[in-house]
Amino acid sequence: MLDEAVKILHEITDNGYMAYIVGGYVRDYLLGIESNDIDITTNATPMELQEIFKDNIIKTTDYGSITVMVKNIRYEITTFRKEIKYTDHRKPEEIEYVNDLYTDLNRRDFTINSICMDENKEIFDFLNGKEDLNRRLINTIGSASERFEEDALRILRAVRFATTLDFKLSDEVRSAILEKKNLLKDLSYERKKEELDKIFASPNVNNGIELLLELGLDKPLELEKLKDIKNTDSLISVWAMLDVLDIYPFTNAEKELIEGINAVLELDNMDPYTLFKYGLYVNSIAGAIKGLDKKAITEKYDNLAIKSRDDIIVSAQDIMDILGKEPGKYISDIYSDLEQKILYDKINNNKEEIENYIKDNY
Ligand code: ATP
Ligand code: MG
Repeated sequence: MLDEAVKILHEITDNGYMAYIVGGYVRDYLLGIESNDIDITTNATPMELQEIFKDNIIKTTDYGSITVMVKNIRYEITTFRKEIKYTDHRKPEEIEYVNDLYTDLNRRDFTINSICMDENKEIFDFLNGKEDLNRRLINTIGSASERFEEDALRILRAVRFATTLDFKLSDEVRSAILEKKNLLKDLSYERKKEELDKIFASPNVNNGIELLLELGLDKPLELEKLKDIKNTDSLISVWAMLDVLDIYPFTNAEKELIEGINAVLELDNMDPYTLFKYGLYVNSIAGAIKGLDKKAITEKYDNLAIKSRDDIIVSAQDIMDILGKEPGKYISDIYSDLEQKILYDKINNNKEEIENYIKDNY
């Protein structure tokens, strides 16, 4: 992966520009952690980058950054900049492209995210990022309260990095968070959710939740139920327990899972129909929240007589033939009835038995 990234740097520098890998990739590389995307910083402007990468560009943004996809790796290439005006503690209103790396590094959030690497894999660490990496410490570049005032998302990013890397917040960062945490209220829920997703998806999620609570971020983030969360090991189960479907933005797939989990929390997890209706994944998550044994749930699920309506051995045509009737809603009613009878072992999923049952009852 690094060799590919070096090739990308060369493509830029061969055109007479400067280019460095920066941010998450270098930080994780020095920590021996794998990364899945690479941020590059350069003095080439987006227009100039478009000339260089042409067909490989998958995204351009209006804040001077392009994304290139090569061999399934995403490279986000951003032009050296200075951020001028911040409105509402959100994204900068104006940016100005600059020609030197040092200025660009200074607008970044944390020292550990400012280390860069050139095309010879040489590391440049102008802002003492390595020292903080070694001390496993989250420190802002410059005054923490000023940096949080400029962009309050950095508060959440600090907690995110402390969680995913298992680092500590510096004393200055911690007190600036306590001082500025109410600014989180002004941020968009989309941006907050992206960082919260990373905290909740981390293997270190329980420490992350503890840190959010310790700093009192549950209130400004409107996560009232955060303090009730018990040991958890999945992103979606945290969101389900938080019960914030009406506040934060979720995809339809996420919504469906969360609603399923909440429904199963009220039901008997080991009930065959519950297992059948909601499936193994949702049942396992709801089971974990209740502290049930995952193996027992899986075993019970594996032994269900049917796992979906399609597993019922008679077809809709069979049902019509048995009753000598035209198609109608009654078919679906019969299927619902059969599901129950088969799942509760009242009848077997056997053609003759089902045929007799239908003849006797419909
Ligand atoms: P990840 O491993 O999640 O990619 P990352 O540190 O690379 O972590 P990105 O969101 O990809 O985070 O951002 C890339 C770099 O851009 C960061 O390392 C940091 O230098 C800078 N950056 C990102 N967001 C901000 C921000 N809100 N304020 C200042 N600098 C930022
Ligand atoms: Mg990154």
